[in-house]
Amino acid sequence: MEVTRFAPSPNGPLHLGHAWSAIVAHDLARNSDGRFLLRIEDIDGARSRPDLADSFRADLAWLGLTFEEVPAQSSRVDAYEVAAATLAAMGLLYPCRCTRAEIAAAARATGPDGPVYPGTCKADPPGWGETAAWRLDVAAALARTGPLTWHDALAGEQQARPDLAGDVVLVRKDADTPASYHLAVTLDDAADGVTLVTRGADLFGATHIHRLLQELLGLPVPRWHHHALLVDEQGRKLAKRRNSPALSDRRLAGEDGPALAAALRMGQLPGGIRLASA
Ligand code: GLU
Repeated sequence: MEVTRFAPSPNGPLHLGHAWSAIVAHDLARNSDGRFLLRIEDIDGARSRPDLADSFRADLAWLGLTFEEVPAQSSRVDAYEVAAATLAAMGLLYPCRCTRAEIAAAARATGPDGPVYPGTCKADPPGWGETAAWRLDVAAALARTGPLTWHDALAGEQQARPDLAGDVVLVRKDADTPASYHLAVTLDDAADGVTLVTRGADLFGATHIHRLLQELLGLPVPRWHHHALLVDEQGRKLAKRRNSPALSDRRLAGEDGPALAAALRMGQLPGGIRLASA
């Protein structure tokens, strides 16, 4: 009885890559008599377009995927704040006022999220006053939890390496987007009772951080299924406009949704598109 989810961000329309992700999650739930959830990840206030959520629901229905919808991230801000306060009370968060450009210039390594934060504000805390982002002190957190492991259905047992991503931001400085992706998604998967977190392999690296957050916050530990991504002939991830039309355009043009889903399941991918090997 797996509980899986599809968790799109309404920043742009869904395309074939999203359809693939939703089908994988849907089928893993259905094959185990479980539940397939839809969660709208609309925490990114400035970029989120509320109108897109309706289009996402219609796209899933058009593909023949039945789902249960769980609360959108915008309704869960209080829970994110409570968790951030818990981590702060444990002494595991520190304020940071560095800009992206400053981080890029000072970074000594690149992690799954981009340049690894070099710890500037941990070594030299900023004064009070301006708004700050809050970062997780990964070394202090790991010292508290000890080594952790997690399980991916395709890649097997993993040693958690949150240190590879560095001290990630958990509370953002812009009021529009109070929690970071890492904090919100970890709390939501627990609140929604997800047992098998199904998502693209591009988020594999993020799971190390999520596993650490679960341990710190006493959350249940699910298993993960990071599926291969659909890519174009040049091996580039699918993106709307560049190499994959919006599902909503296909739907509105009268294309047969269940036939498209069936073709994807059988690996019959349209022109030049293929599954990336891991
Ligand atoms: N909301 C994220 C996205 O649209 C997916 C998050 C996840 O599956 O963990 O890329």
